[in-house]
Amino acid sequence: MDLFEHQAKELFAEYGIPVPRGVVAHTVEEARKAAEELTGRVVVKAQVKTGGRGKAGGVKVAADAVDAAAKATDILGMDIKGHTVHKVLVEEASAIAEEYYFSFLLDRANRTFLAICSAAGGMDIEEVAASTPEKVAKVPVSALDGVDRARAREIAQAGGLPAAAVEGAAELIEKLWAVFLDEDASLVEVNPLILTADGRVVALDGKVTLDENASFRQPEHEAYADKAAEDPLEARAKEKDLNYVKLDGSVGIIGNGAGLVMSTLDVVAYAGEEFGGQRPANFLDIGGGASAEVMANGLEIVLSDPSVKSVFVNVFGGITACDAVANGVVAAFQLLAERGESVTRPLVVRLDGNNALLGRQILADAKLAGVELVDTMDDAAKRAAELAAAGV
Ligand code: GDP
Ligand code: MN
Repeated sequence: MDLFEHQAKELFAEYGIPVPRGVVAHTVEEARKAAEELTGRVVVKAQVKTGGRGKAGGVKVAADAVDAAAKATDILGMDIKGHTVHKVLVEEASAIAEEYYFSFLLDRANRTFLAICSAAGGMDIEEVAASTPEKVAKVPVSALDGVDRARAREIAQAGGLPAAAVEGAAELIEKLWAVFLDEDASLVEVNPLILTADGRVVALDGKVTLDENASFRQPEHEAYADKAAEDPLEARAKEKDLNYVKLDGSVGIIGNGAGLVMSTLDVVAYAGEEFGGQRPANFLDIGGGASAEVMANGLEIVLSDPSVKSVFVNVFGGITACDAVANGVVAAFQLLAERGESVTRPLVVRLDGNNALLGRQILADAKLAGVELVDTMDDAAKRAAELAAAGV
C-alpha cells in the first residue's frame, strides 16, 4: 500500500524526522485557512499517489493566504497522470539551499535492502541516475546489521553530500531506517531531502510503500487505507475474505487455487476472441476448502457486477473433492434464493480431479436452471464466452 505524502510525513514526524509544518485541505477555503494559520509563504501540494507532481504543476509556492487559495483553486480537481486531486497539503515554505535524494528499498534481485543516496536530488533524479550513474550511491544494507549513525554517515558521504549536510542527513537516515524496519515498509523515499538556508536537513517530500503481507502485525496501518479509491466490489469481497480482483470483461470467473484462476483468465480471454472479444470480468480464487457459504459469497460478489453476462466456475478437485464443491454450488443457489438474489445468469461449470464423476452427477441431478456442465477447461471457456456474447 502506497501512502499519500501527508501520511508519509505524519509517520516521519512520529519518528522525530524533521518535516515542514503542514495542514491537509480538501477545499479552497480550507487551504486559505491553513495558509492563514501557518502564516507567511506556503507551498500548496497536490496529494496524489504518483510522482512528478512538481513538473505537472501540482506543487506551487504561494505568497500568502489569498494566493494559497488561488493556487489551491488551480490544483484541486487537477488530473495528474490519471489521478484526480481531491486534497492538497498546505505547508510552510522552506528556504532551500540544496536538494538531495535518499531512499531505502528492498533489492529483490540481490536479496538485500538498499540505500540510495545522491547529492543531485530534486525533480530530475531519474535523469541523473540514467546519464551520470556515478552521482547516485547504491549501498547494500544488511537486514541483520541495519543502519546506525556511523553507517548512516557513510551512506551520506557515499552520496556526495557536502560536509555541512552530512551530520543532519545521517541523523535523518538513521531515523528513516527505523521507519523502514518498524513499519514493515518496502520503500521509504525522500526526494528532495533538503539543506535549508539556515543549515537544517529536512524531508521535503515523502513516499512510503507499506508491505501488506505484514498487515497482521501492523493493525494501525488499516487507518491509511484509501477507502474512497477502493473498488466497491473489491472492498465487499475483502470483508468476506475473498481473493477478488475486478477486471473489465463480461465473463465472471470462480476457481480454486490462484494458479488455476490465472490460467482460466488466459483461456477465457483467448476463447472470447471468437465471440466479439469477450473477456474475464474478474479474478476470484475461492481457495481450497470451498464450502457452500464461500461459494455463495463468491457467486454473490461476481454476480453483483452488472457487466457479468455469464459465469465460469472452474474447479480442480484436490483435498476438497469435486462432490463437496458440487454440493457447495447447489447449496449456494439455495442460499442466494433465500437471500432474494436468485441466480438468473448462465453458469458454466467444469469439474475435474478428485471425485469429478460424483461431483458432475450431483450437479446433473440438481437440475439447476441455467447451469451447464462442460468436461474440459477449453470447451467450458468457449461456452462461457459464447453465453456472455449472447447476453450482452
Ligand atoms: P514531486 O514533484 O511530486 O516529487 O513533488 P516534490 O514534493 O518533490 O516537490 C517538487 C519540487 O517543488 C521540489 O523539488 C522543490 O524544488 C519544490 N518545492 C517543494 N516544496 C518547496 C518549498 O517549500 N519551497 C520551495 N522553494 N520549493 C519547494
Ligand atoms: Mn519529490
